[in-house]
Amino acid sequence: MASKTFRGGVHLNYHKELTNQKPLINVDASDVVIIPLKMHIGQEASPIVKKGDRVLVGQKIGDTSAFVGVPVHSSVSGEVQKIDTTLLPNGLRGLAVFIKNDGQYELDPSIKPKASLEELSSREIVDIVREAGIVGLGGATFPTHVKLCVPEGKDVDYLLVNGAECEPYLTCDHRIMLERTDELFYGIEAAARACGAEHIKICIEDNKKDCIELLAKRCGPNCEVVALETKYPQGGEKQLIKAVLNREVPSGTLPYEVGVVVINVGTAVAIAEAIQKGMPLVKRAVSVTGDIVNNPGNFIVPIGTTMDKLLDIVGGTKEPIGRIIYGGPMMGTSIHETDEPVVKGTSGILVLGRNESPLIGEPDPCIRCARCVDHCPMHLMPNMLERLVSKEELDKAKKMGLNDCIECGCCSYVCPSKRHLVQWIRVGKMELIARKKREDQKIASKAIETA
Ligand code: SF4
Ligand code: SF4
Repeated sequence: MASKTFRGGVHLNYHKELTNQKPLINVDASDVVIIPLKMHIGQEASPIVKKGDRVLVGQKIGDTSAFVGVPVHSSVSGEVQKIDTTLLPNGLRGLAVFIKNDGQYELDPSIKPKASLEELSSREIVDIVREAGIVGLGGATFPTHVKLCVPEGKDVDYLLVNGAECEPYLTCDHRIMLERTDELFYGIEAAARACGAEHIKICIEDNKKDCIELLAKRCGPNCEVVALETKYPQGGEKQLIKAVLNREVPSGTLPYEVGVVVINVGTAVAIAEAIQKGMPLVKRAVSVTGDIVNNPGNFIVPIGTTMDKLLDIVGGTKEPIGRIIYGGPMMGTSIHETDEPVVKGTSGILVLGRNESPLIGEPDPCIRCARCVDHCPMHLMPNMLERLVSKEELDKAKKMGLNDCIECGCCSYVCPSKRHLVQWIRVGKMELIARKKREDQKIASKAIETA
């Protein structure tokens, strides 16, 4: 049967062979871990520890009362050195807890297995997931309890488990599916119970035939493995839902509007760990890769471990580093210092040489070829959006779907003039957020004045 897919997108050179046969290896944290208090979409957590406190593995060190937000936990035992700002993967600065790792990895006494899945209600599963600080580990970092907590009046019939891993170079999800199969199925069952989905589809690109075969053998009566065409961005939530179920998620809404919840394979394993061991999200799988890396591989990395530690683990590079990217080459972000930490959304560290630079180049004038339009998986007009944002016509850009852009980078990738389309679109989206904040602040100060 033909593999399923969506309209648009691009076929890339995947470079997966660098690491797809490399098993996951547990590694130690760096001597000092840097754990940001905002590693997720939503409200930043506030610190609940202070300088000089001794903390243990799995201990909560930050929390928030906001529904769209999650607590943050220590990945090591040791002493809190300071609470200070650090550079976050999105290029902004945010508060982080700096912990001197004592190398003992002493567990917090709160880390105990929860009740069995059969004994837990859907509400209890959602609460465990929230308390464990679990967010989407495919890179989106949307709090998972919010996804699983389906609002009253909405019915979810399908849980899609995202094992597409469509970004070039990254293979940690591939290894999770092969090596953590028991936990994967446990987490899938827990997520299906929590959101009330009766049908499960595990969605895998057809360049991972070993995963497709292995997981298909393990599926029960309500579960099926779906082979997807290897095409970027097949793992995008909306593209996945369209390809597998032929349903379209309306602009500005979440997948439960069309009866679907989507979770990543790594997220399912994190849910299993939270229930079976009581362990919050303090580690994640990371591919450390790139053609110039001496020993690229897949690693289970304590959150907060700094990049220089990981570069040591892979034995450094064969030639001077040109760029380091958090994530894959299409949606990842460049970092500038090697003392930046692995966060919950870090699925990969891609190290490139000085001659490799996937999307950057001097732009030529637009030749109106419409390739960017043809390849946009969200059916937008990236050339028009670029023009409107650069002329500061944000309202018009918004009307043309600026906020629907998933920042996949396909438009920039196919543009023969190397125009910085996705970069301009990102600028426009950030400016819309900043404008909304300014307006909200104005309303709040007016309310205070009149009170
Ligand atoms: S406009 Fe956005 S969604 Fe469309 S191709 Fe460009 S980056 Fe992707
Ligand atoms: S692909 Fe590039 S050159 Fe072609 S229409 Fe889009 S922006 Fe213009």
